[in-house]
Formats: sequence, structure tokens, C-alpha cells
Amino acid sequence: MLGCVSSGPADLLLINGNIHTADNTNPFAEAVGVRNGIIIFAGDNGQALKLKGEKTEVIDLEGKLMTPGFIEGHGHFIGMGYNLLNLDLSEASSYEEVVARVQDQVETGNPGEWIIGRGWHQNKWDQIPESLHKGFPTHQLLSAISPDNPVYLRHASGHAVLVNKKAMEMAGIDEDSQSGEGGEIILDPDGNPTGIFTETAMGLFSVFLPENDTESDEKAYQMALNNCLKEGITSFHDAGAGMPAIGLYQRMINKGEAMVRLYVMLDGSDSALMEHWFSTGPEIDTVDHLLTVRSIKTYMDGALGSRGAWLIEPYSDRSDHWGYAVSSSDFIEKISGRAIETGFQVCTHAIGDRANRETLDIYESVFSRYPEGRNSRFRIEHAQHLDPEDIPRFARLGVLPAMQAIHMSSDRPWALDRLGERRIVEGAYVWQDLLQSGARIINGTDVPVEPISPVACFYASVTRKTLKGFPPEGYEPEQKMTREQALRSYTIEAAYGAFEEEIKGSVTKGKLADFTVFSQDIMSIPEDEILNTRVVMTIIGGTVAYESDP
Ligand SMILES: [Zn+2]
Repeated sequence: MLGCVSSGPADLLLINGNIHTADNTNPFAEAVGVRNGIIIFAGDNGQALKLKGEKTEVIDLEGKLMTPGFIEGHGHFIGMGYNLLNLDLSEASSYEEVVARVQDQVETGNPGEWIIGRGWHQNKWDQIPESLHKGFPTHQLLSAISPDNPVYLRHASGHAVLVNKKAMEMAGIDEDSQSGEGGEIILDPDGNPTGIFTETAMGLFSVFLPENDTESDEKAYQMALNNCLKEGITSFHDAGAGMPAIGLYQRMINKGEAMVRLYVMLDGSDSALMEHWFSTGPEIDTVDHLLTVRSIKTYMDGALGSRGAWLIEPYSDRSDHWGYAVSSSDFIEKISGRAIETGFQVCTHAIGDRANRETLDIYESVFSRYPEGRNSRFRIEHAQHLDPEDIPRFARLGVLPAMQAIHMSSDRPWALDRLGERRIVEGAYVWQDLLQSGARIINGTDVPVEPISPVACFYASVTRKTLKGFPPEGYEPEQKMTREQALRSYTIEAAYGAFEEEIKGSVTKGKLADFTVFSQDIMSIPEDEILNTRVVMTIIGGTVAYESDP
């Protein structure tokens, strides 16, 4: 708790609410009182109104659902900001729409300026363009509407880019250009580049692209912040940051422009960064609770889509391939040991069952050398595909699975090809098995991989359907979270995953006054209405940080 709160009237009263507190000792309330950014009361209207003084602001919630402020448990804050700052093509439903969005930028932007976009995916388009090469569109339409501005549009996967003619001219690309190892310049049947460059071939443009500077960093920060507020996110676990990002966060705090509370995982692959932080130890913001650095991000494997996830048995759709480790176990074991010695948490990315087993083995071995390590709340980020034998090990070792329910919605339809029926049923996105075994699940979206919407992720958690509502009974319905479990995964469990359950994650006297108010009661409305829910108010430290238009 945040210590004793001086007596006197409340600064803010929120009354007539349908408040789900995520506090088991007092699960429901009608009203909340706030003083100095801290909750001083949670209970009924009558009692709350006794705290009303002359200057007390009173907000009538009109029966709406209010919850503890939602916590994004795994996202990329600046990545999200730049994604918003650049052209976001993730919602485009055709190639024509992508082109039209670029055309808007050509018309409003400066001549000759780069147009950078991200997030297009041909499988999300309603109609498929006529000229496709190797499944990808070609540059002609784009080049026609943007003859002078170079255009660079990254695929949603991040593994390919579509550019226009101007960009290729600037980079000196022609039919004789070579991609080098590990990438491809896709050519049409006449041998001309189609505008698609994959993997390392994307690097042919890197020296020509505009560099991020202080101004664009701050703009991206603002965009990310506003997006969090609009979506009801009051705290954010930033999954992998270096010194420039931390410097930026600090600068925005000093300017008085920070609001969303950041919990930073350091980029464990940056050895200079790690040496610095191992020597200084964690930085825990006990005053404003805006920026805490006490965690380290490491990677065990890659992603399932590109078959980089590391599996125990080969891929169902490629029998000579198991995926691979992207770090040595030795490296993760060393960093884990030093983390325990210096007071840091470790969060390791693991998708495939082999990567998860290996990570659990490493953690177990480190905990046997450092028994106090069991209290370090080590996490596995994603924990998507588990061997059934490994499921109970999370709870047994006190390791927290940080899982993004929305990935199940987006990926489950094709994950079946990669893993096959048995592995999907036994070990993919097994939320209820983990919860039943006693594990505490942290939810989130991995934004900008997925949009940050907690409503969509909540829907995925409790229905296990795609956002189009398929299949009607949900994928592996026995693994659905209950609504209460889903709420906890976004609030109190996420707070626990950052050692912050004493100060946030539930509507409890003595905690930070961070709340999210929804247009509909997602805790009780029929499933198929959940996605129509909007965030109507986001409150951080007792201040209304966002309010939707009525
Ligand atoms: Zn991530």
C-alpha cells in the first residue's frame, strides 16, 4: 500500500458505478473516493457521499462498468508510437485501399519526403490483386500515384517490404541487383523487380530511410501515450528497451507529459546496457510510479509463422525442421544468475514447446543455485505452445506465463498447420490448464504486432474465437478464461508480474486511483456484444486522462 492517507474530504468521487474491483475481499462496489491520487474508499454510494467536501469533483458513472486501470502486460511502447506515426495499413482490406492511403500522404506531405508504412497483409484483403508474384502484390499502382515520394511499406510480419519505383531508383535497384544471403528481391517473369524485398534484402534501403531523431521520438511517444489512454490502458510493460528509449521516457516525465505508468524490460542482448544496469541495480519509481526498470528481456526462440519457434518434434508442415534457439542456454542461464544477484526479474520470449521447456529448465537450474530466485517472479513471454508435462512447472517454479490471448484469435487458424491437431489440443494457448495448475497468467497484445485494444483481447480470452466470431463455440473451448479470470489477467495478475500488486491492479483502499470505464458491461453482456464495447473514460492517479465523445 502507498502508506497512510491524510483524512478529510475526497478530491474525486465516482458514484453509481458497476465496479468490478478485482479485489477478492471486496469484489464489487458502487462508488470510489480518491484523494491525492490514491483510493481512500471503495463501497456503496451512501458511505462515499460522506466524503464529499466543497471542492470534491463528483462523476456519475450512470451504472457503467468500472474496473481497475487495465495493464498492457507485454507491448512495445515506442514501436507502437512509430507504427501510429507512420502509415498504419493493418486495417486495409484491399491493395487499392493501401494505395489510396499512400496517395493521401502524397497529397498532404512534402514533396520528395519518404512515406513509411507498416502492417499490410495480403491475406487480410477482401479481393486479391490481379498481378501477384509469389503471393505478393507489385509496385506499379503505388509508383503511379507516388512518382516523386519514395514509399516503403513493411509487411505485417515484418519479414518483407513493398516499395515503389522512386525508392528503388534512390537505392540504385535494377534487374541486375543482388539480394545477398538470407533475402530475396522478387522479380516478375520478365526479370524486373516487383517492389517486394524479403528478409535481409530489406536492408538495401536502410541507409536511405530517414533516421529517427529527438523530435520524431517524442512525437511517437505522444502517439503511443494517446493510444493507451484511448484504449483504457493505465500501465504498460515495455518488452525490451535500450538506453535511448529509457532516456526518452525520462525526458517526457521531466517535461510533465508522462501519464501511463511504464514497467521496462531491458534489452538483454545489449551487453553494454546490461553491464550498466547490473552495476546500478533496478530503478523503482516509488514516488510518481511512472517509470520502473527492474526487468530483463531475453529470447529463447523465434516466431511460429516463420517456423522459428523451437519445437520438440518437427513441424507438421515441414518434417525436417524443428525451428531453432536464437540464444544459447548458457547465455540465458548466466544473465538469469546475475539478475537474481542484482535484483532483476528475467522475462524470456519462448513460443515453441522446446523453447518453453528449455527456459523452464534454465530457470529451475538457476533457482537451485540461488534459492531466493524463486521470489524473482521470472516470466516466460508468450508461452504459446507447451508440452503437457511442462504445464504444471510454471506454478511449481513460480514462473509467470505472460500470454497474449489475442494471438490465439489471429494465429490459431493457421497454427494448426504448423503444429497439427494433437499438439494444438494438448498444449497450445492452454490458459485454463495453466490457471488450474495454479499459474498466474498476465495478458496483453504484443502491440504493435496486434492492436492494443484490451476489449478485443478480453473477447479473445473468454470466447477463443477469431474477431470475426469463428468458430461459434470457440477453439478448444475448455481452455477459455472466465470473465473474472480475464479481468484479473489484465489487472491484478499483470500488477503481480511487475511486483506492483501492493500499489495497483485492484480497486482497493490505499492503491493508486487508476481506473477504466467501459460503455458496456463486458463482465455480463452476451459474448457477441463484447466487441462493440468502447472505453469511455481512463483515469490515472485520480485524473481523468481520457474521456470519449458522448
Ligand atoms: Zn513482443
